[in-house]
Amino acid sequence: MYSASNGLYFHVPYCRSKCHYCGFFSEAQALSPSLSVWDAWLKEILSCLAEETQKLDWGLFSTLYIGGGTPSLIPPEVLSSLLQHVQDYLDAEAEITFEANPDSLTALTLEILQQFRVTRISLGIQSFAAHVRQKVGRAVTDSQIQTARELLSTWPGDLSLDLIQGLPDQSLEDCLSDLSTAMSWNVEHLSLYPLSVEKGTVLYSQLHRGNLKLPQENDAWEKGIEILRHNDWDWYEIANFARNKAFCQHNLAYWKQKPYLGIGPGATTTFPRQEKGHKRRVWGQQALGFSLNFDEEYLTPLEWRKETLMLGLRTSEGISRQDWKAVSARNWETVLSRSLERFASWFVGSCEGDQLILQPDFRLYQDSFLREAFLDLDVDARAEV
Ligand code: SF4
Repeated sequence: MYSASNGLYFHVPYCRSKCHYCGFFSEAQALSPSLSVWDAWLKEILSCLAEETQKLDWGLFSTLYIGGGTPSLIPPEVLSSLLQHVQDYLDAEAEITFEANPDSLTALTLEILQQFRVTRISLGIQSFAAHVRQKVGRAVTDSQIQTARELLSTWPGDLSLDLIQGLPDQSLEDCLSDLSTAMSWNVEHLSLYPLSVEKGTVLYSQLHRGNLKLPQENDAWEKGIEILRHNDWDWYEIANFARNKAFCQHNLAYWKQKPYLGIGPGATTTFPRQEKGHKRRVWGQQALGFSLNFDEEYLTPLEWRKETLMLGLRTSEGISRQDWKAVSARNWETVLSRSLERFASWFVGSCEGDQLILQPDFRLYQDSFLREAFLDLDVDARAEV
């Protein structure tokens, strides 16, 4: 399933307004920023790209993801220039994903995406129910969603829709109806996220001030997963589903901890296996001038092992011997002997095989396994010292 070798990510730092649940960095600008602001952002992205790739020996990138924020706000001339410049850094068969919002997707944008061989569009719907979108400050109308659907009806590449379940005022019926509407779009990929309330978001403060309540006992997400599995969608990651093998290679690279160059405010870069360990870089959260400001940290081998386990078990491919070898000199039977023995029935086949994969029915409960497994990893790391 996984074929990409390294990924490139560009972060677009603007949105029309800020959705109350959103923890991604973006500046809300009711009117898209002026062309000169976009030009400055483009210049910065491209100069970081040139500088960073000169220092790295990763070769051409096999995936590019333009995310945000709202990439569909990028003016056509800036988008053309970005896509044109980046071609030199991409493999001829690269998967290129572009995130779009229904309120800003235009026919001209789609034409440019096609011209520069963008292969996937990921459209942020979150909810088809107007009252739910309104409750969370998501400024997208029903008619904009309908227009986006019409525009995308001739899109030749893959299309993915994003949905969130468990939002304020979103009943189980709303969630199920969202899912059936999304399936009626005949898309190849669906991301179905449970709501996660992140610190710093409007939703977080509303909940903590007691101004808002979330739906009680809403198991819509679990029900949604059941429906998609029942309809033969490939549940290849805990919140992601594909048909006809339309997996997102870019995100698979991230879950597999492959080299990953992120450029833009708030974007993260992973430099695996550097001399001093595994390096992570996070750019500053400011729309412009982000290149002057980033934090870097080296993950300890123990942190890296825990991430590998946590991210790998989210996927239907699990963790391979090779991936594990890259983070641990000792095999998983030795390091995780106690937890693997206790949870043996949760895994596909024998834990002595080539892949460590959670059975789909237990994927949602992986935290229970991880709690035990992390204790084993802590003991192992202490013994290593
Ligand atoms: S959810 Fe999307 S549109 Fe809404 S604020 Fe976040 S990045 Fe912007």
